[in-house]
Amino acid sequence: MSTVVLDNVSKVYPGGFLAVDRMNLRAENGEFLVLLGPSGCGKSTLLRMIAGLEDVTSGDLWLGGELANELAPRDRDVAMVFQNGALYPHRTVRGNMSFPLEIAKADPAMIRERVIELSKALHIDETLDRRPGTLSGGQRQRVAMGRAIVRQPSLFLMDEPLSNLDAGMRTELRMEISSLVRSLGVTTVYVTHDQVEALTLADRIAIMNRGVLQDVGTPGQVYNDPATAFTAAFLSSQQLNLLAATVRTPQNQFILLDFGPHQIMIPWTDPRAYVISQHVGNQIIVGLRPDCLAPVPDTFEGPTFMGRVRALEYHGHEWLAYVESGLTAVAVPEPPDPRHRANGLASSVPGGRTRAIMRRLMPRSVP
Ligand code: ATP
Repeated sequence: MSTVVLDNVSKVYPGGFLAVDRMNLRAENGEFLVLLGPSGCGKSTLLRMIAGLEDVTSGDLWLGGELANELAPRDRDVAMVFQNGALYPHRTVRGNMSFPLEIAKADPAMIRERVIELSKALHIDETLDRRPGTLSGGQRQRVAMGRAIVRQPSLFLMDEPLSNLDAGMRTELRMEISSLVRSLGVTTVYVTHDQVEALTLADRIAIMNRGVLQDVGTPGQVYNDPATAFTAAFLSSQQLNLLAATVRTPQNQFILLDFGPHQIMIPWTDPRAYVISQHVGNQIIVGLRPDCLAPVPDTFEGPTFMGRVRALEYHGHEWLAYVESGLTAVAVPEPPDPRHRANGLASSVPGGRTRAIMRRLMPRSVP
């Protein structure tokens, strides 16, 4: 059993700064839990409290069903991987990876075998006799990962282990971490500020802002049905449109969202229609990802957003049009009609007008 339970846990640093505010969270046995949030939101502080490197100011921390507030770090059976690897410079790769097993007085033959096996899985078997100073950043991070994993602790704690690597290396190592950790089935708490890392690695994601837990759920839950506007904006790789709308009296098949110059009908079949209907007559904030909108030709009949294109951005797989009309960004996955394709977004050139229809209402409306 290696569950982690945070029961109303807070951290106040000397000087009075509240870094973690009454956090309630649980990592199940074998779960890969990602703590996600912007720089300074308190995620490393939380991880360090779990490791025993920081005191818990108030609340209870339970590890494997045992109250751990006062437990010494060495008695917690955790292995931690930091951003910068932090290897022993005078030991070889083999020496670094063997170290936790040597301390545990494991059988030397078993140590040799385990280190070779793991170094192959991490693609560093050819560096075993080299010192950390002669390795690339990616190789050093693999060694640090190997050193943490070699001993099969009850709990892995990882603090932005990929953030110093280039994009290609990050993707490669991310996949390896995922398959290695999952094959071991060890509970893992992983800190990152990178939403792609969180969405791709996590069983569940806990999103923090300013020391406060904002949302927790599977990647699909927090992405498609975020509990707060902060979560919706933070998880959106594109700029999120947060728009004020008044909820109008429900019609037979629709609820009307009134954005001022634009109106949108939400069918009752939409899972969010019920939540929105609780706010009839009130103003709510609606989060719209650019990819919830699609451009339509001028001949389209029905409610649309319309505005003047301020700028166009090419993102490789799509264009983004920034439209002035209260709405700030509209994704243009492809020019809507063949005539425009030939002319290269003729209707969406800066200064021109564009119309966009809402395809889906993605994030939950936040009152
Ligand atoms: P990052 O991604 O930048 O590492 P983080 O989310 O991990 O950020 P923490 O390192 O946990 O954030 O820091 C949370 C807040 O606590 C920050 O405002 C930080 O300045 C503050 N803080 C961290 N350590 C201390 C300390 N020893 N004394 C006082 N304040 C601290």
